[in-house]
Amino acid sequence: MKPRVVVVGSYVQDLCWRCPAFPRTGETTVGAFAGGPGGKGSNQAVAAGRLGVPTLFVGAVGRDVFAKSARAFYRAEGIAARLVEKPRHATATAGILVDADGRNQIILDLAANLALARKDVPRAALRGARVVVAQLESNLATTAWVLREARRAGVATILNTAPMRDDFDPAMLRHVAIVVPNEIEFTALVNRAPATGVRDFTEARLAALPHAALHTLCRALGVPTVIITLGDKGCFVSTAEGFAHLSAHKVRTVDTTGAGDAFVGGLAAALARGESILDAARIGNAVGALSTTRPGTAPSMPTARELDAFLRKQKKPR
Ligand code: ADP
Repeated sequence: MKPRVVVVGSYVQDLCWRCPAFPRTGETTVGAFAGGPGGKGSNQAVAAGRLGVPTLFVGAVGRDVFAKSARAFYRAEGIAARLVEKPRHATATAGILVDADGRNQIILDLAANLALARKDVPRAALRGARVVVAQLESNLATTAWVLREARRAGVATILNTAPMRDDFDPAMLRHVAIVVPNEIEFTALVNRAPATGVRDFTEARLAALPHAALHTLCRALGVPTVIITLGDKGCFVSTAEGFAHLSAHKVRTVDTTGAGDAFVGGLAAALARGESILDAARIGNAVGALSTTRPGTAPSMPTARELDAFLRKQKKPR
């Protein structure tokens, strides 16, 4: 089936240990291990795919056991994936330590992701998609090219500016229809995009900004739609027509990792189904909230059925 959502981005093998306390230098701590598929690009593809929208993930892996497990994972999920093998690189890994208070320490090697090249990305799939999604965990030159190719073909392009990187060039925003930063990334975007004329923006200033002023700042980025995700405060949507704040759903949160990825996947799937920006952001908001009710990243993404049941329950008067 022709993919409607194409996600080009990172695949990372997560290696996670829960421990009572972080080991000090030279110390060995005993912890409980859990591994799983991760990477922002892959998580977003899983979020969109589980919602029943034909989705293609394009990413790079090494020639190792983690690549094998990536292929097995996508087969099991029934989501199309083009995992390009980079024999001279390892599959990306993240070593994650979580202590008893839920705090984490992460060491990340993006490895093969940084070797993703233009030739690895099927141009026909980009041009034939309804929505193309990218993040900043992959090769940035390839990412910029992907967004340009898709936008030139009239495809809705979403850039999730996560994680913000020193080598991110705001010129990439020219090819973006919808930019989705969290609060930290939005602050960085404002300071780095020349058009805003602002250089000393902070998260504290963002939190204190009235919505109308925030909308003006979003407009200065020069991207048609800006959606700032605000964690348990929901999200802020700014388009040429106006702005809206969507409150977060009240849920029993157990793990917020991957919430941003869930939001972006939900947003992309809804847009591909022809929803308006605002309705698609509402879906993103619900998918983000649902993902926090379960541990993990990719495994915590809800299915279409789970999302429908959740939305029906939300509509019921209490
Ligand atoms: P990131 O993980 O990229 O920092 P956020 O923390 O902003 O992203 O979360 C992304 C989205 O997930 C939010 O906009 C919201 O829709 C949803 N979300 C996150 N945390 C919660 C929460 N505690 N309760 C309900 N929804 C949440």
